[in-house]
Amino acid sequence: MALLVRTDMNNLWNEEESHRHVGDVALRVYTSRLLGRDKSLVLHGGGNTSVKVVEKNAFGEDEEILYVKGSGWDLEKIEATGFSPLRAEHLRRLAKLPALSDPQMVNELVTQLTRASAPVPSVEAILHAILPYKFVDHTHADAVVTVTNGVDGEARIREIYGEQVVVIPYVMPGFDLARLCAERFAAESGPGTIGMVLLNHGIFSFGEAAKESYERMIHLVGLAEDYLRRHDAWDAREPPTPVAAPAVMDMARLRQEISGVAGAPVILSRHADHNCLSFARRSDLAVVARQGPATPDHVIRTKRLPMVGRDVKAYAEEYRAYFAEHEPKAQERKTMLDPAPRVVLDPELGMCAVGRTAKDAAIVAEIYEHTMDIIRRATALGGYRALPAQDIFDVEYWDLEQAKLKKGGKPAAFAGEVALVTGAASGIGKACVESLLARGAAVVGVDLNPAIETLYRRPDYLAVTCDLTSPEAMTQVLERTADRFGGLDMLVLNAGIFPGGCRIESLASDEWRRVMTINLDVNQSLMREFHPLLKLAPRGGRVVVIGSKNVLAPGPGAAAYSASKAALNQLARVAALEWGSDNIRINSLHPNAVFDTGLWTEEVLASRAKHYGLTVDEYKRNNVLKTEVTSRDVAELAAELCGPLFAKTTGAQIPVDGGNDRVI
Ligand code: ZN
Repeated sequence: MALLVRTDMNNLWNEEESHRHVGDVALRVYTSRLLGRDKSLVLHGGGNTSVKVVEKNAFGEDEEILYVKGSGWDLEKIEATGFSPLRAEHLRRLAKLPALSDPQMVNELVTQLTRASAPVPSVEAILHAILPYKFVDHTHADAVVTVTNGVDGEARIREIYGEQVVVIPYVMPGFDLARLCAERFAAESGPGTIGMVLLNHGIFSFGEAAKESYERMIHLVGLAEDYLRRHDAWDAREPPTPVAAPAVMDMARLRQEISGVAGAPVILSRHADHNCLSFARRSDLAVVARQGPATPDHVIRTKRLPMVGRDVKAYAEEYRAYFAEHEPKAQERKTMLDPAPRVVLDPELGMCAVGRTAKDAAIVAEIYEHTMDIIRRATALGGYRALPAQDIFDVEYWDLEQAKLKKGGKPAAFAGEVALVTGAASGIGKACVESLLARGAAVVGVDLNPAIETLYRRPDYLAVTCDLTSPEAMTQVLERTADRFGGLDMLVLNAGIFPGGCRIESLASDEWRRVMTINLDVNQSLMREFHPLLKLAPRGGRVVVIGSKNVLAPGPGAAAYSASKAALNQLARVAALEWGSDNIRINSLHPNAVFDTGLWTEEVLASRAKHYGLTVDEYKRNNVLKTEVTSRDVAELAAELCGPLFAKTTGAQIPVDGGNDRVI
């Protein structure tokens, strides 16, 4: 018996935890989540699980119900409502039909649900129904896929598992696969059978208890991992390679080109750690990376092939030809995906992931990181062999057909676009981050205050804590923005300081200089440094300057502040003139009396109100419209200035002050 390293390390079953899940469906939720937590077993919607229970129907009769994972749910976060309850007997009868088209099968599944609000069941539902066990677990485990995608994959699988599993040749997921599994399982399973391996696809385990089925999965996958270890294929790594150099403009140019081919702005995320870089520098890259995905389940995310190098046009041509070859009518039936790559492998850039959103790009990157490991190990084992292009195409085409059936929401206004906000930790800056994220942009938040690091934890938000008065920090912001998202479309110049009141005759040069540096100089540096990226923005660059009422109506005691904001205003006007030919728009907002910014404590507000003989509320609404102006009001307008409503406006200055009699 092989040493079961995986069983010790990766069995996440916890007796105490399991007792908190009462009933079959609750335990099904519990072990499904255990599988989902292990990314070497299932990735992003991959894998599915089921449990069979007897329930009373409306007539008071006992009926066997198959609870199978619903589409759109991830095992890691699945809840009881994520399982689709189906009449099991009907599904087993279907499996005996000689043929059933995919749309017919989906229709049969949906009309056998016993809960109208349930999600559409997994296309592998019939396969779950025909396995005569209460609990069924299915994953696309890396180790199993590595062995089956290698030379002599089937023979090796039989060597590893012997009588423990029934082996099924590759058939696309759907009715035909379920039918084949039913036949083979009936003919080939024996008393020692605890699982089923689907070549080039994944593995099933089953049992009468949730724990039994789960632990069998861990055991079976562990055997494949041990096999890889014994054959020196587990730690297959490329030799050390020099670290990657910064590539700001390379990233921005590549993103612009890919966005052009995709027909919409995309996020381009660079992964240049040793793992990705050394893979992208393999001498046999053109051979190993151009075979196809590790499992057909990945094809809709990563496409059949990554782009090796940077020739986007050639990649798009090849993709169109591949589609035309396998489905001549695809173009006219509008079933072809955009021909842009999803994964880029380049010896200088490493691995780059492409997505319509930052979240999509993060999913692509995670899938491809697993793919690289699978290719490395299968190559070390004797050679990586993906499925023939036709088999992969069938899945790609089927997925597209399925996607058409789903109600696709309109993409967010700024999907695929990137914004940078300075002074993002609080007040107007923080509100701008929220307004831009809400419109689908990926956002870089920059601030001196490290609080920005924990504002959000999501793939479309990057926090950079730094002091932009230092040139090194400026370079760092530029490089991190380009690496993480591929470029910049929108720049919100918000950071600034408002020092305490001081008359000119007492204003020290140091203080004057400090205010000018932060409120003016830094913004000019940001504009200069980010101009090349803004110029490459797929929909044109946008800059929003958060100015001040003081530009139009200065007050005594604020000479440095008013002068700095007036100079910034003039800088923006010149930029509007200079950058129009680069398709970059720049507009300014002049807020006044925004009190929810943290600068204004209750005490300061109270004392200012008293000074004018007003209540705090009257003081807050001391404007023509008698309205209160919030950070959110300013942020929403800043975001709209970047949108299509202002597509033909540049060099504008808009007050956000409730109306000020000195400005009007
Ligand atoms: Zn599967």
